[in-house]
Amino acid sequence: MRKQAAVRQSDVLGILHAQDKPMTAYAILDQMKRDEPDIAAPTVYRALAALTDQGRAHKLESIKAFVPCRCNHESAVPVLTICGDCGSVDEHDGTRLLTELSAIAAQSSFDATRHIVEIHGQCDGCSISS
Ligand SMILES: [Zn+2]
Ligand SMILES: [Zn+2]
Repeated sequence: MRKQAAVRQSDVLGILHAQDKPMTAYAILDQMKRDEPDIAAPTVYRALAALTDQGRAHKLESIKAFVPCRCNHESAVPVLTICGDCGSVDEHDGTRLLTELSAIAAQSSFDATRHIVEIHGQCDGCSISS
């Protein structure tokens, strides 16, 4: 029997939460195949799209990977700091940036639906050890 979309989404979210690093859709699919060898890629893509739409997960556009949402926000701006060395991702609340970002988009009459800010660099742990 096919699982319902909501069940799929929580399966995928569970996998993301179990990792402390961002995962690509392919890596998630790989992991799900351990339990369900015949699961199709679009099933995973659909679940990921729904999760990002709902703000329960975020997509890191620059590295095409997903992280679970670790804060609680509806229309806020997630700010994700990504360590280039160990790949760890931290989430911060960037709600204060929303007005500024909307103003920038509005300059070119761009109708923004979703904001996400990525900051790349080195995390505390990695900068100490290097
Ligand atoms: Zn979030
Ligand atoms: Zn690091």
